[in-house]
Amino acid sequence: GHRHGVPLEISGISKQFRGLKALKGVSLSVAAGEIRGIVGPNGSGKTTLFNVISGLYTASSGTAAIGALTLTGRRPHQLSRSGLSRTFQNLRLFGQLTVEENLLVALDRSSMRSFWHYVLWPVGVWRSERTLRREARDLLSRFGLDDFADAAPRSLPYGIQRRVELARAMAADPKVLLLDEPAAGLNGQEVGQLKEIVRSIRDSGVTVVLIEHNMGLVMSLCDRVTVLAGGDVIAEGTPAEVAIRPEVIEAYLGD
Ligand code: ADP
Repeated sequence: GHRHGVPLEISGISKQFRGLKALKGVSLSVAAGEIRGIVGPNGSGKTTLFNVISGLYTASSGTAAIGALTLTGRRPHQLSRSGLSRTFQNLRLFGQLTVEENLLVALDRSSMRSFWHYVLWPVGVWRSERTLRREARDLLSRFGLDDFADAAPRSLPYGIQRRVELARAMAADPKVLLLDEPAAGLNGQEVGQLKEIVRSIRDSGVTVVLIEHNMGLVMSLCDRVTVLAGGDVIAEGTPAEVAIRPEVIEAYLGD
């Protein structure tokens, strides 16, 4: 059916590591169906923010929510069916599995394993092996990976591996997708392909937030950009608006 994604609401998130304040009360609102860029110098708290939203870190204070669902205070495994999905800066694919098997694992994990699984099993609501295989095939074709189904991820060019990672994140059928430096290590042509893929993901009804250092990509892909520096939001607006802000230029010169 037609979907519009859901908003991501981050409110007053702080995160302290011993003496270090990595995030100092960060708030941002990402609209449903938006592509939001998060930029900022190294150490400004971008990945920490993703880690808090996705439950890897516990916030010192503040909340994050997608739609009506509060994310903060839940563990990562409790978030796997919450509608939030993410990728990591460094690829986290299973090296012993084929590309298709990596997707099958993600699809299987995202299925509803609950009380209802056991109650509804006899009436066939539970996704069968055959259904999972079909969904994996759909993902492979959607991400242009048909030719690589049986390959070991590491035998593939890096740009293809990153696309597998993206397909795997989409296996959970997320409403909000967090991408941590999706263009890192990609060549110009691959960055162009990535841009098209992210747009099509958004058009399928997913709200996308990406941390990215490739400013050309941020400028041409994102609807709005949030700039972090020293754990604070120092600017926010359209790419054209933030690019000319003096505090943004200063933050980058100091990097
Ligand atoms: P960015 O992603 O913008 O480069 P990070 O979120 O990785 O920044 O880091 C922000 C700050 O928090 C840095 O000073 C970093 O050293 C610190 N930091 C991040 N993770 C941890 C951690 N697990 N333990 C201690 N300090 C951390």
